[in-house]
Amino acid sequence: MMYIARILYPVEVLGPGKRIGIWFDGCEHHCRGCSNPELWEQQERYRAEAGAVLEMIRMIAGENPVDGFTLTGGDPFLQPEALGELLDPLREISEDILVYTGYLAEDLKKRYPELLARIAVLIDGPYMEARNHALPLIGSDNQRIIYLKEGYRERYAPILAQETSRIQNFRVRDGIISVGIHRPDYAQQLKDAAQRKGLTIDE
Ligand code: SF4
Repeated sequence: MMYIARILYPVEVLGPGKRIGIWFDGCEHHCRGCSNPELWEQQERYRAEAGAVLEMIRMIAGENPVDGFTLTGGDPFLQPEALGELLDPLREISEDILVYTGYLAEDLKKRYPELLARIAVLIDGPYMEARNHALPLIGSDNQRIIYLKEGYRERYAPILAQETSRIQNFRVRDGIISVGIHRPDYAQQLKDAAQRKGLTIDE
């Protein structure tokens, strides 16, 4: 059993190519300015069997090109067993697995070496709002991009060479989900823009 809030495709702003993004539900870091605070608490409505999650992923991969996976949240390492269940089946589709975590790589290497051995790229550390410079892939400049497998530094170089982070909006059943590294004032800007059009944004 696992808590998975969203699966989106094609995510093109969190790693190279067209990726399947998987948002784990639950995070204990509670970083100030986090863009997904609605995923801090683990919610029953996001509880799912590994089989159902994998079925959905295989269905997407069966009909579309998949260049990699981006696992984020929430924090995937709050659910190490779930992460362990998913990694091997995902690698059968693409070995380019990028994982975002608020924990530090040094701690994870001690606690979960068997998981890190199956991940290609790790972006670690808590989000620090004052250090958000809208850089590609990282939320704040304390976070490190750690290449755990060979060849990925070159693969990720073009997206990291972009001047700034990019945002991608997905229309979903109950609204719009904005994906990517947002600037610190993004939520307020969005609210102001919506208000000018006579709209209200639910948080
Ligand atoms: S680790 Fe990520 S999801 Fe968790 S609170 Fe920090 S920014 Fe939000």
